Amino acid sequence: MSQNIYQFIDVQRIDPRKKAIETRKIEFVEIYEPFTEKEVSAQADRCLDCGNPYCEWKCPVHNYIPQWLELANQGRIIEAVELSHQTNSLPEVCGRVCPQDRLCEGDCTLNDDFGAVTIGNVEKYITDKAFEMGWKPDMSHVEWTDKKVAVIGAGPAGLACADVLVRNGVKPVVFDRYPEIGGLLTFGIPSFKLEKDVMRHRQRVFTEMGVEFRLNTEVGKDIDMQTLVNDYDAVFLGVGTYKYMRAGLANEDAPGVFDALPFLVSNTYKVMALDNAPPFIDMAGKRVVVLGGGDTAMDCVRTSIRQQAASVTCAYRRDEENMPGSRREVKNAREEGVNFMFNLQPLGIEVDGNGNVSGVTVVKTQLGAPDAAGRRRPEPIEGSEHVLEADAVIMAFGFQPHAMEWLEPYDVALDERGRIQAPAKGDILYQTTNPKIFAGGDAVRGSDLVVTAIDEGRKAADGIMDYLEV
Ligand code: FAD
Ligand code: SF4
Repeated sequence: MSQNIYQFIDVQRIDPRKKAIETRKIEFVEIYEPFTEKEVSAQADRCLDCGNPYCEWKCPVHNYIPQWLELANQGRIIEAVELSHQTNSLPEVCGRVCPQDRLCEGDCTLNDDFGAVTIGNVEKYITDKAFEMGWKPDMSHVEWTDKKVAVIGAGPAGLACADVLVRNGVKPVVFDRYPEIGGLLTFGIPSFKLEKDVMRHRQRVFTEMGVEFRLNTEVGKDIDMQTLVNDYDAVFLGVGTYKYMRAGLANEDAPGVFDALPFLVSNTYKVMALDNAPPFIDMAGKRVVVLGGGDTAMDCVRTSIRQQAASVTCAYRRDEENMPGSRREVKNAREEGVNFMFNLQPLGIEVDGNGNVSGVTVVKTQLGAPDAAGRRRPEPIEGSEHVLEADAVIMAFGFQPHAMEWLEPYDVALDERGRIQAPAKGDILYQTTNPKIFAGGDAVRGSDLVVTAIDEGRKAADGIMDYLEV
């Protein structure tokens, strides 16, 4: 590593510069400027090489972080990108959207006193730079088997599974109902966090590696599950969770009330100028109230700002400290003009004489005893009810597994919450109760993170190869 192991004292942690706020508020492009080569080298050199890389343990895919930081510091980008792909199928995505403050950087030895190494940004830089240099995975050593696997879902879980399979000579054919790959990377996460060209480039890379994509193809509608079971040696389910959670509020189906994902999806279709777009949900000129406090809520408030809403308020039932959304995104939202109101629980949607949304009745809360998950429960304060005026309300309460009738005949057991049972431990990883069918990502663990979906997709590929004995 560095000649001077005290580099972290001389060189401060820096985060990448953000674009000017006036530009950020109207553009659907990433808000961070990339690091320069010099900045990457200096920031990577801050790594202490502490000998016990907590960052690596905390990273769900256990990236070889200190090693690729050293390579980045020395400008050995191709070696760094090869190393980072040994553990991660989409490092350019994780570098952009992982909540690093509670993963790798949160556990960096330097975090408390000196500022963590900017791991995520170096990870992003390495992959972006390598692609710019024309790098692509070397497939010349791959010995092809005669096996092929149907992967349902082109989200991070399905893509990671396909990546590991194809590198081991097993042909993946990936089916997705959407016209583009990425799953929620493309249709959930907005382009101010992850520009759409990132996944389009990845699609070209995967295709050249030998992954086949059948897009605009919904299993259970455009193609039968039975065809996949008959024609392929194994099937991987990376289908995500798409049942929108609701709060059971009065008038929650009134015109002007929207679920978070259809709002974000319709915006993505517009940004990408895709055909067959769903109706565009437009917040221009409206007073928007977003209910919820996670990453999805942050994406909705920031999308509404960019659509030129008259005002955007995020109402959350706990305090700021207990908000599940990434600190970085809350800060970005605040800078862009979002008004946060904490300790407010929605009680009902108000409508005007025409039945359209006119506001949300809320009650103030205080935090009480911890619940089963250890989070303090919000308790309403009697007599504090009032109305937040609104022309549009977006519900961002999270997702649950959706029903899949087309899977019912195949003896794939679900747990009590509707998640597919595919154990992370055992002889064959992520195998469902139907030996030929594997699963991973949100559909198995419930809605979570990109990097955990990648981890499960990769491990499921190992399970599939054990099952196929290749
Ligand atoms: P998905 O990404 O949901 O992909 C599933 C795919 O399966 C979809 O493309 C779907 O079309 C396809 N599919 C489903 N059924 C069928 C079928 N029958 N036939 C064909 N195709 C089918 N995580 C982070 O780490 N950082 C973030 O900043 C972040 N922001 C988020 C913002 C939003 C708005 C949302 C909703 C989630 C966010 N997440 C974030 C979570 C993250 O996106 C998910 O955890 C991750 O994408 C799950 O990956 P997956 O592959 O399991 O499922
Ligand atoms: Fe950190 Fe995520 Fe990269 Fe792991 S994958 S090193 S947690 S940014």
